Amino acid sequence: MKTTIKDYYKILGIEKTASVEEIKRSYRRLAKELHPDRNPDPDAEERFKEINEAYHVLVDEERRAEYDRILKSGDESKYRDFLEYIQEFIESIVKGEKTKKRRPRKGQDIRMKLPLSLEESAFGGEKEIEYDRWIDCPVCEGMGVKGEPEKVKCHVCDGKGRRVSGIFSFPRPCSVCKGKGYIIKNPCPTCYGRGRVTQRSKILVNIPPETYDGEVLKVPEKGHFGYFGGKSGDLYLRVMVKEHPTFKVINSQDLLMEKVISFPMAVLGGMIRVPTLEGKEIEVFVQPGTESGATKVVPEQGLPKNGRRGNLVISFRIGVPKNISAKERKLIEKLARLMNEEGVNYSDSVFDKLKNKLSRGS
Ligand SMILES: [Zn+2]
Ligand SMILES: [Zn+2]
Repeated sequence: MKTTIKDYYKILGIEKTASVEEIKRSYRRLAKELHPDRNPDPDAEERFKEINEAYHVLVDEERRAEYDRILKSGDESKYRDFLEYIQEFIESIVKGEKTKKRRPRKGQDIRMKLPLSLEESAFGGEKEIEYDRWIDCPVCEGMGVKGEPEKVKCHVCDGKGRRVSGIFSFPRPCSVCKGKGYIIKNPCPTCYGRGRVTQRSKILVNIPPETYDGEVLKVPEKGHFGYFGGKSGDLYLRVMVKEHPTFKVINSQDLLMEKVISFPMAVLGGMIRVPTLEGKEIEVFVQPGTESGATKVVPEQGLPKNGRRGNLVISFRIGVPKNISAKERKLIEKLARLMNEEGVNYSDSVFDKLKNKLSRGS
């Protein structure tokens, strides 16, 4: 955005070295001539505004010095901040607090995280979200004041609205009175004088398919409500994909899952059922002699990206039962003997008898 630095001296028709008296004289003359109540010229109102701006900048020693510095440096961004401050200052003194704040303005944007499940992020859908939005306080209608404002001069900046503080050599807006130069004695008790309150809102957000971690969704006009009927700000949602209880994303679009299989299944092989990201089940063949840690790749069951599906990688683990029935124990012991397993804790071994004795406590 380009902002041309206005020449306030030219606007008032005075020299750069003009005294405060000369500034006041010139302003009074032009103000009389251009006052919109007397001058029907359509340009008069705009020019009237400009001479007001020029006057309020130049009549104050501090503001004039800052303006001169900006004019000399040609720093447009600094001028924009300065201009904003000046215009707010003028509106607050010329028209009073009420007029100043009643101007409709766009609300602020909201930026927040949007946690999504892996399924929501892959396939999209509608999601309801709940969050706080600022709205004009319904009690004071956004004015921040209970009834007519009672103003008292800010003692921190002595009513100037700006002061030199800390490491900054030029005056900055006073933090106590927020640059206004006065403090409201009777703030609205509902919004504590801020003019805004929060409102819990619920909206439905449309999540497009393949919306992954770090992507930002813009929801227009769902940010903070506008001021005095102005447009609402926008809502920006940064997607954060939550960890999935079953699947882990690997190689950008493959899914890894662990599947526990029994010892007989690992030895003999066969068919098992595994879940998919869609919440369905598919049948998978287990190779006879599958070891713990062996993997099997199922194509087209991974994450969708750019219209293509990644793979599902199944990592097998052989489950070892902790509690077995007497019948199972007998069969496993039989197998162990058949495999010539020496040192195994057989039921009739010395070790087992000792253990039984101990657990009986005798
Ligand atoms: Zn209020
Ligand atoms: Zn102050």
